[in-house]
This record gives sequence, C-alpha cells and structure tokens, in this order.
Amino acid sequence: MILKCENINYNYGKRKVINNVSLGIKKGQFTGIVGDNGSGKSTLMKILSGILFDYNGKVFFENEELNEKNRIKIGYIFQNPENQIVGVTIEEDVAFGMENMGVPRKEMIKKIQWALSIVGMSGFEKRDPNTLSGGQKQRLAIASILAMDPEVIFMDEPTTMLDPVGRLEVYTVIKKLVELKKTVVIASHHSQDLRDVERIIALKNGKIIFDGNKNNFYKTNKLNIEEPIEIRTKKILHMNYEELVNKLADRT
Ligand code: ADP
Repeated sequence: MILKCENINYNYGKRKVINNVSLGIKKGQFTGIVGDNGSGKSTLMKILSGILFDYNGKVFFENEELNEKNRIKIGYIFQNPENQIVGVTIEEDVAFGMENMGVPRKEMIKKIQWALSIVGMSGFEKRDPNTLSGGQKQRLAIASILAMDPEVIFMDEPTTMLDPVGRLEVYTVIKKLVELKKTVVIASHHSQDLRDVERIIALKNGKIIFDGNKNNFYKTNKLNIEEPIEIRTKKILHMNYEELVNKLADRT
C-alpha cells in the first residue's frame, strides 16, 4: 500500500464528518470516491493528503506516518481551478511549488516543459493564466502539481465546474496520469470521470458503505449513480460503446 489510513475520525465543531474510516490504496491504483454532497469526500481526501491534520487516527505514506516532509509526495487538485492559480504567467505558476521545494533552476525549466507537455499545453509558457478557459486552467493546476513529482494525486471533483469540452480535456489528462503510473484518486459525480477507475469507494454520512470493484458497485448501486455510458450501451444495445460509435460513423 502506498497510502493507508486507520480509524480516521474527524469533526467540524461537534459534527462528526468522518466516522471511523480505514482504507489502503495500492500504488498505481485508479480509484473513484463517490457520495452525495456533504458525505465527507473532500474532508477524507484532505486528511489523506495532509491538508487537514487535526484528525483522530493514523495516516501512512509508504509505511511512514504522514508528516511535513512526505506529504510533498501527495498532490491535491481542487474543484475550482481559479483558486489554484498563483503565477502571473503559466511557467511561473508551474514553477511556484518547485521554488518552494528548492529545485535547481535548470531542472525546474525541464520539469515545466515536461509537465506542460503532459497536459497538452506546450507553448503556453508566457501566457497569462487569466486568459485560459476553465479546462485549460484545470490542466494548468494539474501541471503545477505534476511538476512536483507526486506519487499520489487526489482530485476533488476536478471537472464539476467545467463545460463538456473542458471536462473531456481534463479527463484526457487524468488518463495520462494513470498511464504515467501515478496513483490517482478522484472524487466525482460524473460517470465519465469514473469510466476507467478500478475501484470505487462510496461514502455516506462519513462512513464507507462500499469499497470494491467498479462493476460490482454499479450492480449493487447504493447511491443511484448513473452507470457509465459504456455499461449502458452494452445493456441496451448489446454492443460496446466503441462498436456503437463505429457503427454510427459507418452510416454517415
Ligand atoms: P463532500 O466533499 O462529500 O461534499 P465535505 O467533506 O465537503 O463533503 O463535507 C462534509 C461535511 O462537512 C458537510 O456536512 C459539510 O457541510 C461539512 N463541512 C465541510 N467543510 C466544513 C468547514 N470548513 N466547516 C464546517 N463544516 C464543514
């Protein structure tokens, strides 16, 4: 397990928001976290990434308790891309976290170029982040995290504030992160975001009510979450989504 937690409890004031949660995440695993608004998804992910630390219980990164040093290996992408931009230019924005880590300049330039290429934004270095679309801003936020070489990346509904085009752009980048063997955990309401996850963790009132294989989740579907389009097309039309798209393409 690259990351695990044991008996996590968390309160906001008197209100219990996370209720005795224990889980482990394997290196390279692509996991989805689902649950109604207020079920505790953000809070749990913030605890697992070291953003919130006044919890009861234990969090371990590679068998060492999460601390100021190793939490750098865990990145967090917020829902609203606007809140994550700090630079006046795109390269400054990507450089920001690395500057705090004391990465040498030469290496930093290489990392900026690499991270921007992964999110499909090479050539954007000198642009003003304010001129970007929502999808591009979220991709920039991902590049800025990626440049710091995280092992685990949490994403808190990264596509919710985006239009369908932006959503697809960001999803394409998420798939790349998975290909890069990053351990990605995504909280989302959008079935498309959950298309390729191996595992689903479902939360209700701060408790885990399901943790397992994605297909089993849709079979038992305790939360009434829409099945991904692939599963729906297969059920209704008895063909894969790709076959359907190809068939429609043939007709035109
Ligand atoms: P989710 O991500 O599933 O929507 P959250 O983790 O954001 O859930 O919230 C869980 C509960 O904690 C909600 O009832 C929410 O209102 C409450 N909450 C979240 N953030 C705060 C905060 N900063 N102060 C007080 N209550 C909060």
